[in-house]
Amino acid sequence: MIRAVIFDLDNTLVDFVRMKENAIDAAVDAMIDAGLEMPKKQAKAKLYQIYDQEGIEYQNVFDQFLQEELGEIDYKIHASGIVAYRKAREAALVLYPHVNLTLVELTKRGLKLAVLSDAPRLPAWLRLCYLQLQHTFDFVITFDDTGARKPSSIPFEKALSLLHVAPHEALMVGDWPERDMVGAKQVGIRTVFARYGDTFDTEDSGADFEVDDIREIVAIVDRENAPR
Ligand SMILES: [Mg+2]
Repeated sequence: MIRAVIFDLDNTLVDFVRMKENAIDAAVDAMIDAGLEMPKKQAKAKLYQIYDQEGIEYQNVFDQFLQEELGEIDYKIHASGIVAYRKAREAALVLYPHVNLTLVELTKRGLKLAVLSDAPRLPAWLRLCYLQLQHTFDFVITFDDTGARKPSSIPFEKALSLLHVAPHEALMVGDWPERDMVGAKQVGIRTVFARYGDTFDTEDSGADFEVDDIREIVAIVDRENAPR
């Protein structure tokens, strides 16, 4: 009997990669408009290089970029980049198709729902609030809530204990095999690979189930919970 579904956030519920790309694209255009003398392609590559070093949630990416490239921060360029980034990010922050439908259907069936994300607490909550999902989940567990990242068993065990379910009563849905699938599996939670959010061209996800559309999870739950 499946009684709870645990969802990864980025690239599982939210198309994070698209959001980031649109935001960076707009920011670079705006910085060039404000006077940055650099080919767009080069500026984008440099920004992603900083993200690779500092983490994708790094907040000082534009200051560091300008400091390193120009030797100083030109605040007209800096502010132009930030404003364009924020506007584009908000516009591009969308749920994958059928996310709302799926969450409603699972809730109707009486399942408990949780988010389990490696993102820091505030950015994770901001994304949920922008998408009006702040009331949907029974629990939202971020990196700051456990101090451990997937595939550590700590966040998964935390989710199980908050949800009051045994491992075999839960499903973990995620786009990252080495983190979401491996981590859930080692504590005995069955796994659903969100192939629609895969950005690594994963061949073997190692998951118990794979979905090309998130709504397929409803059918998986119905099948597992059907009277035998
Ligand atoms: Mg993810």
